[in-house]
Amino acid sequence: MNIIKRPSNDHFLDTYRKEIVVLHGTAGGSEIGAHTTLDKPDKVDVPYLIARSGTIVERFDPKYWAYHTGKSGICKISIGIENVWWGWVNKVGGKFYSWTNKEVPADEVIELPTFCGKRHYHTLTQEQIYSNYWLILQLKKRFPTLKEVNTHTKYSNMRYDFPPLFPDIEYLKTALTASPIEDRFNVS
Ligand SMILES: [Zn+2]
Repeated sequence: MNIIKRPSNDHFLDTYRKEIVVLHGTAGGSEIGAHTTLDKPDKVDVPYLIARSGTIVERFDPKYWAYHTGKSGICKISIGIENVWWGWVNKVGGKFYSWTNKEVPADEVIELPTFCGKRHYHTLTQEQIYSNYWLILQLKKRFPTLKEVNTHTKYSNMRYDFPPLFPDIEYLKTALTASPIEDRFNVS
């Protein structure tokens, strides 16, 4: 596993003790679209973006910070990871469509208990799950002060990334506390 660098300039250069990893979804279907949105000079950015293929792109050194949860106190002490992911999808006539009306394959859709009025969600790929887990393990080595993994919904209940019971989020939360022998993947 390696990390591709695609430097951005949309962050602050002061540093704080890192305590939290925050998992996000982009509400989009493409890696390029996500970079375009993050590149806007608004100091909203994350150090990592994970593509559907599992490719990890580093946009800036995670010791720095940018806005990604809306709350500056949390943003300063957290490391954001965006995943390319449509978020909720609408079911129309047996097919599924993103909020932009793009068809999403049925085998990439999961039904969950209703959250903010939505029941159907795009899944993360297995490659993304693997890459998130691997990345959190690497971050744990570099920032031993990290102590929790949360999703964006913890900081705003109007955000869909990620709904309660979304697959594998609880597993990803264990990456910070698991001993190497408990890791599902033999990663180093
Ligand atoms: Zn988010």
